[in-house]
Amino acid sequence: MPSSFDRIVVLDFEATCQPGTPPSPQEIIEFPSVIVSLRDRAVEDTFSTFVRPLHHPTLSAFCTELTTIRQQDVDAAPPFLDVLAAHQAWLAGHGLLDAGGPERFAFVTCGDWDLQTMLPVQCAAAGLPVTALPRVYRRWINIKKVFLDSMKKAKTTGMPAMLQALDLELVGTHHRGIDDCHNIARIALALAERGAKFAITGKLAASHYPELPLELQWGDRVERAFLKKRHLASLLGLASGLFHTRMVRAFLADGPEITDDDPLAELAPDARIRLVSARDRPAT
Ligand code: AMP
Ligand code: MG
Ligand code: MG
Repeated sequence: MPSSFDRIVVLDFEATCQPGTPPSPQEIIEFPSVIVSLRDRAVEDTFSTFVRPLHHPTLSAFCTELTTIRQQDVDAAPPFLDVLAAHQAWLAGHGLLDAGGPERFAFVTCGDWDLQTMLPVQCAAAGLPVTALPRVYRRWINIKKVFLDSMKKAKTTGMPAMLQALDLELVGTHHRGIDDCHNIARIALALAERGAKFAITGKLAASHYPELPLELQWGDRVERAFLKKRHLASLLGLASGLFHTRMVRAFLADGPEITDDDPLAELAPDARIRLVSARDRPAT
């Protein structure tokens, strides 16, 4: 994964809402994105569509007031799973999504809510496990962090405040997803102009991943177990308990050592993990 991306895709969901606590499950009603080349300092393409909520199909007056999204907009829109597939096809059409290949871009959001909270909630509401999402949807760059890093003195980080600090006008309507995307893209371009680096700031928390059945192998012993939290420390702890010996290293079967939590997010159910204990001779 590059330490700094020169292509980003700004994403800003709008969702069902009402004053106070949102409807449960909260659902995405607008799914917009803007591809930005930070190298060429240009917007390359735009993806914009409404999404029809299935659990709470009637928008509150509050929601329409906040977002400008009307009942007829969502009534005529495809449901989430169709929009997600179209979004992936759009990214693939730009050469941005090849399975297994290196990540060519990162999503940029204003805050962590879009990909840390809303997308997992929407996936659950649609019956889609988060592990079915391409990895790129499970990590992101929070523009507020990039802003705070590069504008050393700035404290407030709402989108309007960031625009103001950068001498940019708010274009369009705040809380309309596609307008928010364009404004966030302008903030990103202004920060890139000032030399800001765009590196991943957040990853989907381990608590969002389902429990994982695994085969744990130590020497010629194999035990089946369920990994609850996809952390390397949890895996070593689980194996240490099972084999009554302190495990210090874990390897993908016949593969590389697992040195951080990332490979655990990608593991398939029933994968085999090879363990090395503190007492074993060093693994080669
Ligand atoms: P935003 O990207 O800031 O436009 O917000 C994304 C979503 O968060 C909106 O579509 C709403 O579902 C929710 N939201 C934002 N602001 C409010 C608010 N003041 N009250 C209730 N929900 C809100
Ligand atoms: Mg937003
Ligand atoms: Mg928005």
